[in-house]
Amino acid sequence: MKRLILATRNAGKITELHAILADAGLDLDLVGADAYPDIPDVKETGVTFAENALLKAHALAQATGLPAIADDSGLCVEVLGGAPGIFSARWSGTHGDDQANLNLLLAQLGDIAAPHRAAHFACAAALALPDGTERVVEGRLPGTLRHTPSGTNGFGYDPILQPDGETRTCAELTPAEKNAISHRGKAFRALVPVVRELVG
Ligand code: IMP
Repeated sequence: MKRLILATRNAGKITELHAILADAGLDLDLVGADAYPDIPDVKETGVTFAENALLKAHALAQATGLPAIADDSGLCVEVLGGAPGIFSARWSGTHGDDQANLNLLLAQLGDIAAPHRAAHFACAAALALPDGTERVVEGRLPGTLRHTPSGTNGFGYDPILQPDGETRTCAELTPAEKNAISHRGKAFRALVPVVRELVG
């Protein structure tokens, strides 16, 4: 069985991509980056989600000699010109402090009324081969930002993004409901024909 590596140490992401590939009839041995513990982390020096996803996928493909998939995602707020964008994980200054990031964003948007609170989650998913071949696809989840957080599922900015057509926030959806509409789910599903073509 052909092996494919995903640039993540998050078991949930591996399960999600594995299910999407299996649904498409692609029987591949998908492993996470922690199967290769000596690989150094890649600096995300790109200025777009696509650039960062490609950087991570190429680094992993070079280090392992395997086809590699990487994703990069974040929240883009219209009235902030697309910020936090690629800075979503470190918007408050501390990488990965979800609560501080969310609180800062809510404070910044405090005076902005509902019609001007459009935002979307964006995800770029890249596939790189050891020979340098690369492809990148994107997915989005559009919605509106609430004034106060609601819900306990998910992570990051989930408690404040209400997807278009929903009455609940992402943090009030079940994981399955969110995966069905999420930016990452859409990007991973868009990657299926690319994986079929380049990996088989
Ligand atoms: P990553 O690229 O998956 O590491 O995500 C970067 C950051 O974007 C996360 O730390 C979150 O702040 C935000 N983010 C990305 N996807 C989501 C999501 O599905 N829900 C909530 N926040 C997200």
